[in-house]
Amino acid sequence: MESLSSKRRHVEALLEELLNLKAPLAMIRRKSGVKPVLGEGNLNAKIVFIGEAPGKNEALTGRPFAGMAGRVLDELLASIKLKRQDVYITNLVNDRPPNNRVPTQKEIAAYERFLHQLLLIIQPKVIVPLGRTPMTYLFDRFDLKIDTIGKLHGRAIETKTPYGTATIIPLYHPAAVLYNRHLQDDLKRDIRKVKNYL
Ligand code: URA
Repeated sequence: MESLSSKRRHVEALLEELLNLKAPLAMIRRKSGVKPVLGEGNLNAKIVFIGEAPGKNEALTGRPFAGMAGRVLDELLASIKLKRQDVYITNLVNDRPPNNRVPTQKEIAAYERFLHQLLLIIQPKVIVPLGRTPMTYLFDRFDLKIDTIGKLHGRAIETKTPYGTATIIPLYHPAAVLYNRHLQDDLKRDIRKVKNYL
């Protein structure tokens, strides 16, 4: 297993690469003077959470889940006695899509190497896609049978990854709770499942 200092060096190199990326969303980022969001947290974490893409607050601060959805995520973590420093949080796409639209397949492809490098560095036991976009991407990538998030949320699906076996547990996106309060109970139940797999 790689030492923490070596992991940090790897992540710094990844950030440098992201800063200089020549993809369309990265060009927009440079023009508008905002930040890319590689991710944040513990590089020895057992869980990695994967959101969709940075929004306005994230692009301003360079931190994932820095706004309202982040507050919901923090509460969920607290409900299983975890803090951000205990886990790693990233996104499928590391630059903000205009008007927070869902990233296109091309945009996802332009950023996927960052997610894969992060997973290789951290080697989490549990991978938690937040919402449909990162869930669909991961299921596709790991050749798993896809279904709707309504069916797959809270299910633990074991998969082979390039670094060994991991369990994927899809959750609803925390922002969904802001629009549909009913999903809060599902999210609370599902996050407890995550804890059982640690
Ligand atoms: N929504 C996401 O998917 N990611 C963030 O970082 C913030 C909001």
